Amino acid sequence: LDLNVNQYLRERIRTVPDWPTPGVQFRDITPLLQEPKTFRVLIDAFVHRYMDRDLRPDVIAGLDARGFIIGAVLAFELGVGFVPIRKKGKLPFTTVAETYELEYGSATVELHTDAVQPGDRVLLVDDLIATGGTMMAGRRLLERLGAHVSEGAAIVDLPELGGSQRLRESGLPLFTLVDFS
Ligand code: AMP
Repeated sequence: LDLNVNQYLRERIRTVPDWPTPGVQFRDITPLLQEPKTFRVLIDAFVHRYMDRDLRPDVIAGLDARGFIIGAVLAFELGVGFVPIRKKGKLPFTTVAETYELEYGSATVELHTDAVQPGDRVLLVDDLIATGGTMMAGRRLLERLGAHVSEGAAIVDLPELGGSQRLRESGLPLFTLVDFS
């Protein structure tokens, strides 16, 4: 059944070559959201895992921007709160910030200081893991506020970029639905 779900989703992810820059194969998950049945299959795959009493988080943190879509719906289904980790300059209240390196330049993500409480078990959600830099920065923000990031979840992993392996080696368990090489 899980194999079928992976195959079902994989066939519906759109690959856009050379976007946003030459050489990048962009894995576009918007078709999964557009079709109601597919959206349901996608969210149910995560609900099925995280409704388990041992894995259920206290809070879901979503990474800007596609992590908001998956994370918010999953949080709603599980009956837990949702907090956004945003790109720099978008959150109005006091924030903590983390800067990380990209291939060209750097990026900064921010989180409201009251988004989580010390000891909260947080599930960190994004659409895709490439180098793992975004998820690592999100994790640092949550840990600086005293939360425990119990797992990272994403629709897609690009294992050849090594990000998921680095995240796992740093002690963060990961759950992903589809691999692309
Ligand atoms: P990284 O920090 O390198 O793991 O990159 C992950 C973030 O960048 C996620 O928020 C993704 O949405 C986006 N991203 C990076 N590479 C791709 C790709 N090939 N296709 C789609 N999104 C990507």
